[in-house]
Amino acid sequence: MSDTQEAPALMSRPLPAPAVTLESKPFFDAAAEGRFLIKRCTACGEAHWYPRSVCPHCHSPETVWEESPGTGVIYTYSVMWRSPTGPYAIGYVTLDEGPAMLTNFVDVAPDGLSIGMRVKVKFQPTEGGPPAPVFAPA
Ligand SMILES: [Zn+2]
Repeated sequence: MSDTQEAPALMSRPLPAPAVTLESKPFFDAAAEGRFLIKRCTACGEAHWYPRSVCPHCHSPETVWEESPGTGVIYTYSVMWRSPTGPYAIGYVTLDEGPAMLTNFVDVAPDGLSIGMRVKVKFQPTEGGPPAPVFAPA
């Protein structure tokens, strides 16, 4: 790549359909409406990701769905430069509620990502399934 060539914008790569289970169905139903849900434990007060019916912090079954603005910061990331669909990036986002989640980054050039960058969730269509959460610069 020459110095004068612009880095391509990160293309959203095709995502396979997520496996929707009885436990994850409320999350994907909300995702189809553009709402991002996380789980919070009413026994210990901690939020967690991915959504589970039993709290991973204290093992209480007293967990509830909570709507989140889907904002956070990049904890770490990795750019896959060589891909049939063009460069893409995955990494961990630390949500403002505390939990970290593995995700894809979109709408940013491959060299435009940085650790600590503010990002916000958006939903990307999948191949024959409900939309999946991905993150873009806030
Ligand atoms: Zn708990």
